[in-house]
Amino acid sequence: MKQMPEIAQKDNPVLRKIADDVPLGEIMSSRIQRVIKDMKNTLRPHKDGVAIAAPQIGVPLRIFVVSGHIFNEEALLEDDKSKSKEEDLVFINPKITKLSRDKKAMSEGCLSVRWIYGEVRRASKLTVTAYDEYGKKFTRGASGLLAQIFQHEIDHLNGILFIDKAKRVEEIQPLK
Ligand code: ZN
Repeated sequence: MKQMPEIAQKDNPVLRKIADDVPLGEIMSSRIQRVIKDMKNTLRPHKDGVAIAAPQIGVPLRIFVVSGHIFNEEALLEDDKSKSKEEDLVFINPKITKLSRDKKAMSEGCLSVRWIYGEVRRASKLTVTAYDEYGKKFTRGASGLLAQIFQHEIDHLNGILFIDKAKRVEEIQPLK
């Protein structure tokens, strides 16, 4: 069995690179499909992980995956019952096309910054345009937790970690 990639931790230089766009003609290639699969499989066992960006598994490409369970919680898939409710959502070459001026301080953590938490001010609403894992372009609006996740993940693609911006930073070890 192929070993799953480890999640890069905060001093790893791959987390500080500006990730490259995925050439659109390569989205369906076995190389990119492998990266997406590795990201999903790496995220899945982390119950507290809601999303992962490609640099976190050592791949400096502009891809992030949001765990399907978030969409269940937000009941955002109600308009599309044909899709499995647990399906992870893949964003390739995401671009923020709208960002609210209104901001909220939200509590945040990161799979690459164990076990630090802090408060980050994020726009409360935004719209993202991206390509899915089949190379189809889509646009998605988000608010609240989902808007926070999208901004955190796009920061990863630009070499930014939440601790660069966070206030009231504290370490909270998980219960054994
Ligand atoms: Zn993160």
